[in-house]
Amino acid sequence: AKKRVAVIFGGRSGEHRVSLNSAASVIGALDKERYEVIPVVITPEGKWFAGVEPAHLLAGEDPEQLGQRVALPADPTYGGLAPVEEGCLKVEQLRPVDVVIPVLHGTFGEDGTVQGLLELANIPYVGAGVMASAAGMDKIMMKTVFARHGLPQVRYCHFLRRDWEREPEAVLDRVEQLGYPVFVKPANLGSSVGISRAKNRDELRRAVELAASYDRKIIAEEALDVREVEVSVLGNDDPMASLPGEIVPLNEFYDYEAKYVEGKSRLVIPARLPAETMLELQRLAIRAFKALDCAGLARVDFFLRRDNGAVLVNEINTIPGFTRTSMYPKLWEATGIPYQDLLDRLIELALERHRDKN
Ligand code: ADP
Ligand code: MG
Ligand code: MG
Repeated sequence: AKKRVAVIFGGRSGEHRVSLNSAASVIGALDKERYEVIPVVITPEGKWFAGVEPAHLLAGEDPEQLGQRVALPADPTYGGLAPVEEGCLKVEQLRPVDVVIPVLHGTFGEDGTVQGLLELANIPYVGAGVMASAAGMDKIMMKTVFARHGLPQVRYCHFLRRDWEREPEAVLDRVEQLGYPVFVKPANLGSSVGISRAKNRDELRRAVELAASYDRKIIAEEALDVREVEVSVLGNDDPMASLPGEIVPLNEFYDYEAKYVEGKSRLVIPARLPAETMLELQRLAIRAFKALDCAGLARVDFFLRRDNGAVLVNEINTIPGFTRTSMYPKLWEATGIPYQDLLDRLIELALERHRDKN
């Protein structure tokens, strides 16, 4: 029998559209001989609809007109997916689902919230569990865990929006201890949203103001002159690392535009680096994956200092971009696992993880 695979995408995050693109690629590539694919969109307002193709949403169509509203989870005997309104016939096709692929980037999706819902409903899903998802999303928590595991990182400090509102000058003084320039970021976001680089106190003020408009927790880091290299990790308790790839942004840093506007950055796969650096990156990627207790997949992003060549872990992304031209699948392709096979592997890993947990 075909496995029923629900692909959940969209979501209440700034990366909604990014997710539509990833999901369109994933749904397009899933082997229809092996899987019955059920697309499930979460609108920016947080409504769930089944049976809506991401391609239609990318073309500007309204999910309310296209699909059927569903809610998660309710009664586990429902297979976790139950109708909000009586008589939602299409919802029938959602249960029982064999596995869910959450293709949600950022808050309410990559951060453990949807994973928690799926745990409650006892449905296997691709990728990190609740704890790793949440810790990976929160840059402060992530750095704390990495530090405890001896992973090399940039110097940083963090504070609350509340600290900033009460004692802005004290906050600025503390951040200045890092020395200019600094990067200021909301703790729980992605896609470079709310992130800026500050070269002096005035710019720092504006940078903190911006980050504080997105999050109640803010992190500041020393800004280094770096190359940016990424490694894809695949597996559960015994994960493997891909060849590293380099990102060459044309903008000042790898900002939102550089990430998503065609031609605003270049991927070099594999990265042109000495063999020993490649190995070190792969080892560190696996250590970072294990430190957070990730599962299935993660992309570990590194900085390579231009001054002394040191390798630093920047961050981990538990649901990395997944279009055919995204770094995560491209790195696996270069390492010998084509896009479609990668999806098969991820589904197997999700089922294996589900068995291990129970
Ligand atoms: P996101 O989770 O939004 O991707 P990142 O922490 O990866 O946030 O930061 C986005 C980009 O900003 C990085 O890819 C890099 O180009 C730049 N950047 C962030 N922090 C630093 C830093 N400490 N030094 C130099 N560049 C940085
Ligand atoms: Mg990120
Ligand atoms: Mg990043």
